[in-house]
Amino acid sequence: MSELLPNYIAGRWVAGTGSGTPLFDPVTGDELVRVDATGLDLPGAFAFARDTGGAQLRAMTYAQRAELLVGIGAVLQKHRDAYYALSLANSGTVKNDTAVDVDGAIYTLGQYARWGAAIGQSTGERRFLLDGEAVKLSKEPVFQSQHVQVPTPGVALCINAFNFPAWGLWEKAAPALLSGVPVIVKPGTATAWLTQRMVQDVVDAGILPPGALSIVCGSSAGLLDQLQSFDVLSFTGSAETAAVIRRHAAVAERSVRVNIEADSLNSALLLPGAAPGSEAFELLIKEVAREMTVKSGQKCTAIRRVLVPADVYGAVAEAVSARLAKTTVGNPRNEAVRMGALVSRAQKAAVHEGLALLKTQTEVLHDGARHALVDADPATSCCVGPTLLGTRDADGANLVHDTEVFGPVATLVACRDLPHALALARRGQGSLVASVYGADAGALAGAALALAASHGRVHVVSPEVAATHSGHGNVMPQSLHGGPGRAGGGEELGGLRALNFYHRRAAIQAGSAVLGALG
Ligand code: NAP
Repeated sequence: MSELLPNYIAGRWVAGTGSGTPLFDPVTGDELVRVDATGLDLPGAFAFARDTGGAQLRAMTYAQRAELLVGIGAVLQKHRDAYYALSLANSGTVKNDTAVDVDGAIYTLGQYARWGAAIGQSTGERRFLLDGEAVKLSKEPVFQSQHVQVPTPGVALCINAFNFPAWGLWEKAAPALLSGVPVIVKPGTATAWLTQRMVQDVVDAGILPPGALSIVCGSSAGLLDQLQSFDVLSFTGSAETAAVIRRHAAVAERSVRVNIEADSLNSALLLPGAAPGSEAFELLIKEVAREMTVKSGQKCTAIRRVLVPADVYGAVAEAVSARLAKTTVGNPRNEAVRMGALVSRAQKAAVHEGLALLKTQTEVLHDGARHALVDADPATSCCVGPTLLGTRDADGANLVHDTEVFGPVATLVACRDLPHALALARRGQGSLVASVYGADAGALAGAALALAASHGRVHVVSPEVAATHSGHGNVMPQSLHGGPGRAGGGEELGGLRALNFYHRRAAIQAGSAVLGALG
């Protein structure tokens, strides 16, 4: 039997009492390690995090907590090679895809450390944030209302999806710890090893106060039952699990604050007038092919629908297919391979099932099944070639606007005109991101604003940013991550906006002397 990874709760490493769930190499099929959360003292774990971890974090200044993030970043940097090896083994990713997760995590931590240091300079010894100016509540200015933001005196339970075991942890933990809130992370089981190792390295380095960071690997059973009124829950995963969470008593009855990042039918729009061969056209082609293949399409922000004017449908199909044909798929240990595996057999089965469904309403423009796998067995590995589907019946093909296939799959959709393309983007019922390609600044700005209400982020690509834009699917900590409706209605990152979730806002109504004495 493979090694059983312990959990870290209440300041101790504790193994589950069950036999555990095995984690596999998705390329070779080898069993790697096991995780198990059976029999853990969850009430004790949450109480320790809340009382011991929370109290110590809240006693620190923002500057001191920013220093904790600096320390964590240094530890992760030191062990970076080990994380690349774990990601290769357990997620089946090529180096470039591992970088999105591991280096993305280190970069995000670094940003929050810098922003935290800047807040630390303005807050000094003050352990809360001022929210706006004091406003007078009576004719005389003596009695006023000052809004403040104080760290919530609870724990942040962070439940993550399998696709970002590194970044998923730190993009949530960085703003939480900077806010003074302890974190209990529950990673997606299939890839939990990398998250567990990162927590282990940070714990071993002795950077954080006891109780500030805990990890439970394996089943989520019982975790939500522990949540109390001042705790917060940050969830990333499917809309189905999100619905279960929203109905849980902690949320429905105890008003536990919840942030949900769920699935999304993100789109890329080519504005009318961008002819084949134009720079805007080429930028769209490059981005679509990249988004379909980075992390084998297992990105919540990946382009799923490509909305183009009907007169260039054929040209786009041809150009994207030509790029996809050059993508070598297989074992990431082979230097020639550009796209690795899906994370598990369950994901492979889900992608095949989703593809079969979409194919009932679309034509196959580039068939992933025709890719010969490099150094990987098609029967046992979880490697899947990229598939481009297409439809000229944009309105009738409802599944295209409804079904998220979490893999290297996108659908090209022919649109009548720009209003039609914008309406189709909104048929995703709220998405994380849409990207728009064109050369006319006025038309691009108009499209961006038209998409803003139904998308958390609008990524506009024009020739002037060809070499500098950050990529449709890359989540930058400076920008908001999250989207309305189907995307979960959540908000993460967005610079210091992320701290709002971990603070409680209150209005303090008092005389000027008292407000002056707040600090
Ligand atoms: P999932 O099945 O919903 O699982 C997500 C997490 O929730 C996992 O840690 C899972 O644990 C846990 N979980 C499952 N049932 C639960 C329950 N009843 N109560 C509490 N937690 C529970 O999603 P996934 O398959 O891991 O991830 C793929 C999905 O996530 C895709 O739909 C993708 O679009 C979405 N996603 C969204 C974002 C975003 O930022 N919006 C980012 C990444 C992924 P186990 O692993 O142990 O089942």
